[in-house]
Amino acid sequence: MIPIIECRACGNQYKPEGYSSGAKVRCRCGHLLVVPQSKPQEAAVLHCADCGGPVRPDALQCEYCGGFLDKDESKKTLLCPSCFARLSPESKYCVSCAHPIRPQTLCMGEEVEHNCPRCKVHLHTRKLDEVPVEECPSCSGLWLSSDAFREISKRKVEEFEKNPLPQKNTKARKLDPVVYLKCPECGVLMNRKNFGRRSGVIVDKCREHGIWLDDEELERIAKFISDGGLQEARKWESEEAVRQAERARNLARSTNTHTMASGFNPGPTFSRGGGLLGSLLSVFFD
Ligand SMILES: [Zn+2]
Ligand SMILES: [Zn+2]
Ligand SMILES: [Zn+2]
Ligand SMILES: [Zn+2]
Ligand SMILES: [Zn+2]
Repeated sequence: MIPIIECRACGNQYKPEGYSSGAKVRCRCGHLLVVPQSKPQEAAVLHCADCGGPVRPDALQCEYCGGFLDKDESKKTLLCPSCFARLSPESKYCVSCAHPIRPQTLCMGEEVEHNCPRCKVHLHTRKLDEVPVEECPSCSGLWLSSDAFREISKRKVEEFEKNPLPQKNTKARKLDPVVYLKCPECGVLMNRKNFGRRSGVIVDKCREHGIWLDDEELERIAKFISDGGLQEARKWESEEAVRQAERARNLARSTNTHTMASGFNPGPTFSRGGGLLGSLLSVFFD
């Protein structure tokens, strides 16, 4: 029995063939999914597997699409992600709860030269929402170029702006012991950076080559963004702009008292454009 897993963030479904229960797999949207324990439910056929239409318990054929109702239990090797009813591999709808079924196979790309800085095994290519990254098959850690990281963060921001999540209390996390990881490309120890300055998500960064994210860090970054981290970063930036203006004023005062007397006002200056994302990433990248 293969339990189909469904990503809560984007709705994509996967058939985790060859993965045991408890294994972590990453959705193409970047979210980390856990393969559930397969606990099949014996469920009555209440819906047509082809069109999802309701069917009478004694019917052999669907009244809506004319499809034959598959009652052969031996062919049912998949489990509905919503109700765990047993389904045949061709089902388009769950026969018990009518949940749409459209699982993709989970596939890792090719092995690349770079090694995981934690497990020392080769990373594999992967696409997260069409953005190319490299992933460790053992710990699900991610290696991203600065551009890929920026692009993925941008999409998380857009996701959040379109569909804000309710504010949640973030539980304090136990801090991991400080370990400096080596860049998978140049082998130099990476810097540890607190994403968005106050997220508590410590990511590893090689100034030259990119960013390493441990298994759940992408999730935690998304959560930080959705919990108002952006507004925080924006606030920090406007405070920083005030501080910059203050510094500029002080500089002007010390170099040219006349400029000051004529009402010198530099206004807010931003180090990097790009609205909210610019705020967040400039805080991170500078
Ligand atoms: Zn997803
Ligand atoms: Zn039907
Ligand atoms: Zn179901
Ligand atoms: Zn690893
Ligand atoms: Zn490097």
